[in-house]
Amino acid sequence: MSFNNFTENLLRWYPLHRRDLPWRETRNPYIIWLSEIILQQTRVAQGLPYFHAFINKFPTLTDLANAPEEEILRTWQGLGYYSRARNLHACAKYLVYENNGEFPDTYAGLLKLKGVGPYTAAAIASFAYKEPVAVLDGNVFRVLARFFGLDMDISSPKGKKEFAKLANQLISKKSPDQYNQAIMEFGALQCVPKNPDCSQCPISTGCYALKYGQVNTLPVNEKKVKIKSRYFLYFHIHIGDYTVVKTRKDKDIWQGLIDFPLEEHNLLDEIVNIDPDQLSLPSALHSLNPHYSLGSEKPYKHILTHQRIFASFVNIELNEKHKVALEKWANANEYDLVSEAVLESLGKPKLIVRYLNQ
Ligand code: SF4
Repeated sequence: MSFNNFTENLLRWYPLHRRDLPWRETRNPYIIWLSEIILQQTRVAQGLPYFHAFINKFPTLTDLANAPEEEILRTWQGLGYYSRARNLHACAKYLVYENNGEFPDTYAGLLKLKGVGPYTAAAIASFAYKEPVAVLDGNVFRVLARFFGLDMDISSPKGKKEFAKLANQLISKKSPDQYNQAIMEFGALQCVPKNPDCSQCPISTGCYALKYGQVNTLPVNEKKVKIKSRYFLYFHIHIGDYTVVKTRKDKDIWQGLIDFPLEEHNLLDEIVNIDPDQLSLPSALHSLNPHYSLGSEKPYKHILTHQRIFASFVNIELNEKHKVALEKWANANEYDLVSEAVLESLGKPKLIVRYLNQ
């Protein structure tokens, strides 16, 4: 099958199978940019509610630029990778205050924006401005690797370059927007990672991987993601309607979000079978006669891309007469004492939301 046939077949397949998604009906770069940044985090079904929440709260680029960071993080809550939400905000502010509220209208110009990499720049340039520059995401790598039998490592710079070269040869000059959408949708719906239904594939006759039995081995990705386990022991300290919280500032996961005071341990054992009497809370808190209870029978498990978090919660309830002493302790330890309503409105890791909802 020639390059032209491959491209034409995908362009024919796309209108018959595409999903109706709100960001596909527009050339507005703001909406396209927002959807692409959100979809870097998640699958379409999970990303849709976030997309709608952002568009409802921040209908224009100016609304996003002028919003407090806290509100953006709160809306982003649950998507993970909070640095992307902060980059989103920084980028909106730059465009509104230093670029007349306009997006650059070329791939090269878009690439200079904070948080915009080659994939997002190509998506905006082609969808909004019809610039013929090919997108390369996991779906595209998979379709190209299988169909053309490209066995270069997709995580290596050399491999990426080869794939980009091929992708840019294949893109339709007349309909680059439709072609980019088509190949991504084809990877998402037809040429799926596991057990694609090749018998129903409209381009199966030219497919290298099908012919040579390599559907399950292509694409080649040698980058092994190492997953690290971490063990958190959280202290949910409350007094009446108030809870002790901390804003995460360190260069670590969940930067800028709110969670509870915590101790990090090296072993799972150290956060299960907890004996409240052995807790290493500062003596100041012990002297306030707290009432301890465990927040759950077994630790919560929370999976991030490179980390697996196990978390246990210790409930620590204090009598209201100790509020002043608790405030003093909290201030001295850079914690805040917030009411339930404030806690509800603040951006929190999904793990904390899960715990609070139980
Ligand atoms: S034949 Fe199978 S492996 Fe090849 S492009 Fe189609 S779905 Fe993908």
